Amino acid sequence: MDKTVLQQEIIKLKRNQGVIILAHYYQRPEVQDIADFVGDSLELSRKAAQTEEETILFCGVTFMAEIAKILSPQKKVLIPYPLAGCLLADMAEPREVMETKKDHPSAKVVAYVNTYAQVKALSDTICTSANARKVMEKMEGEEILFLPDKNLGAYHAKTLNKKVVLWNGHCPVHQRITWESIERVKKDHPQALIIVHPECPPEVTEKADFVGSTSQLVRFVQDSPAQSFIVGTEDGTLHQMKKKSPGKTFLLPFPLPLCDQMKMITLERVYRSLKEGIYPVEVEEEIAMKAEKAITRMFEL
Ligand code: SF4
Repeated sequence: MDKTVLQQEIIKLKRNQGVIILAHYYQRPEVQDIADFVGDSLELSRKAAQTEEETILFCGVTFMAEIAKILSPQKKVLIPYPLAGCLLADMAEPREVMETKKDHPSAKVVAYVNTYAQVKALSDTICTSANARKVMEKMEGEEILFLPDKNLGAYHAKTLNKKVVLWNGHCPVHQRITWESIERVKKDHPQALIIVHPECPPEVTEKADFVGSTSQLVRFVQDSPAQSFIVGTEDGTLHQMKKKSPGKTFLLPFPLPLCDQMKMITLERVYRSLKEGIYPVEVEEEIAMKAEKAITRMFEL
């Protein structure tokens, strides 16, 4: 089926079935365009908790769909491709987390949203890149075990009056964004502002003009009088930037920051998912209960 026809079919199916489609900013542009809501992890988890539809089709990676299921256990949550994982989340293995907790008995565990439900269930709270600092600051206690992204943790630990133990994990997509790769673009576009995600390495976040979560980057571009930007995050984000700030110029470092896992969600798979009701997301009850506590704690904080 041709792309436009496929999109029309998907829109018809979701309306007939009363399904809400949520999509992350890192999704393919054509997938973002059939979604009812596009956002970052924090916005998507809020939306998943509030939606009235009985079925949520989640275009993102599995840990995101798990959150939707945990927050709305009575609803059907579908993911078009259940093997779309997160390489950062893979770096925090539950057994290892349990062992590390024993080494830091008084530390509060703050898990980045990019973890699987089993790890969230072992944590005191979760956070997203949009609220990580606030959550770490407001969390009671003087010591924090932050996992799994060492770059995000280190970026906020610098300005916190607490001891922060960092997990040795990183997002391979953002880790590839080096200062050198940004400088190469800047050479030809000296006026461009450098805006980056806090999952980038410290050498990048230290020198950038603005550091923020994906939604904060999109908003920054809208509010800024600047006309061109070098964007240090996954390339799918540029789709919303272009839509919300038409006429402005967006440049990416090379090699292109592309998340293969996010791109596993295609229009064909979304169509099949709606048509056949696949693939339902399930989270074991006990794990879901504990993970929900950590997610709710984030909203409280
Ligand atoms: S961009 Fe990085 S953190 Fe985000 S889903 Fe892909 S691998 Fe995970």
